[in-house]
Amino acid sequence: MNWADRLSPAVKAVPPSGIRRFFDIAAEMKGVISLGVGEPDFITPWHIRESCVHGLHKGYTTYTSNYGLLELREAIAQTIYNNYNVNYDPRQEVLVTVGVSEALDLAVRALLSPGDEVLIPEPCYVSYKACVLLAGGVPVPVPTTIDHEFRVTAGQLAKLVTPRTKALLIGYPNNPTGAIMPQKELAAIARFAEKHDLIVISDEIYADLTYDGPHTCFASLPAMRDRTILLNGFSKAYAMTGWRIGYALSNPDFIAAMNKIHQYTMLCAPITAQLGAIEALRHGKDKMEKMVAEYNCRRQLMREGMQNIGLTCFEPKGAFYIFPSITETGLTSTQFAEELLVSEKVAVVPGDAFGASGEGFIRCSYASSIGNLTEALSRIGRFVQQHR
Ligand code: PLP
Repeated sequence: MNWADRLSPAVKAVPPSGIRRFFDIAAEMKGVISLGVGEPDFITPWHIRESCVHGLHKGYTTYTSNYGLLELREAIAQTIYNNYNVNYDPRQEVLVTVGVSEALDLAVRALLSPGDEVLIPEPCYVSYKACVLLAGGVPVPVPTTIDHEFRVTAGQLAKLVTPRTKALLIGYPNNPTGAIMPQKELAAIARFAEKHDLIVISDEIYADLTYDGPHTCFASLPAMRDRTILLNGFSKAYAMTGWRIGYALSNPDFIAAMNKIHQYTMLCAPITAQLGAIEALRHGKDKMEKMVAEYNCRRQLMREGMQNIGLTCFEPKGAFYIFPSITETGLTSTQFAEELLVSEKVAVVPGDAFGASGEGFIRCSYASSIGNLTEALSRIGRFVQQHR
């Protein structure tokens, strides 16, 4: 039977992830230093793991409310209020999900009608366009450039907005570039969203990994709380990728709509992960800040290292990625990543995996030890030397 013929058009429209391919090649080789993975190299702090083990001992092994444990929703709402002074009702405006990944999928599926357009600043996280396509929408990439430190402007968005534009999907601090948006520039985006009556999906999963100043939550901008779907989670800041826990905050009707899909598909996020997440929010700040301080040291190491190698890159301001230009080598980003992997055993992700505007760049994750990063920089340096 030819299964390829039987696939849905939406699935056929989605290209395979450019990141996965590199993981798979690198996993089969020995001695590879991977800067390819967007995943903390820390283990989840012990007190978080312990709270989960303790919950299991006490017999917490059941489903929870579809919306998530009320205690967790309360802790989430409290954290968002403490950090950004935005109020959400934990009973109606918070949905606990299986990672930000599920929250994103639910948000676009609950929002989009076939053919609805979603503006997406690019380069962007690989799932954004895929989720929009799977929901029957049309992703409209808005290319950003290194000259403006990969920040999108309201002017760029205005050129691409049409009567079919339903939403804007942003993710700052940004994966893959490490860009953030200063409050003033975000405020201009907010005015743009209001003018065109757009919903804004704001993926703030890297909010706690902001190095040079506080993060601006999109929902905290004037008049934005009610048109924002705010997404966040535990994977990155608390080193909890495998726990699969995230959340969405929005208007109660929209949260109910997301929950309508969630209750028939996931039912609820795993109770064990929810217990860990409660502990992370209640007592995890110190450990999280220590991990962030460590990423900050590595960020500086990578920035200086790339400069010494002679690759142009701007200083990332958040997340744990650096996005140097490799145009000096004359190679495409895929050629660079493939040849680097084969000859120097360093795995990086080609920039075009994050959209056409990522071509000419590579993404290096610095969620790796200083020892690994130093060795990787020396191998990249040798590789670039040979290709000048
Ligand atoms: N959003 C961004 C920007 C990411 O980089 C990632 C993971 O790499 C996710 C969402 C997915 O996060 P989660 O593990 O919470 O599903």
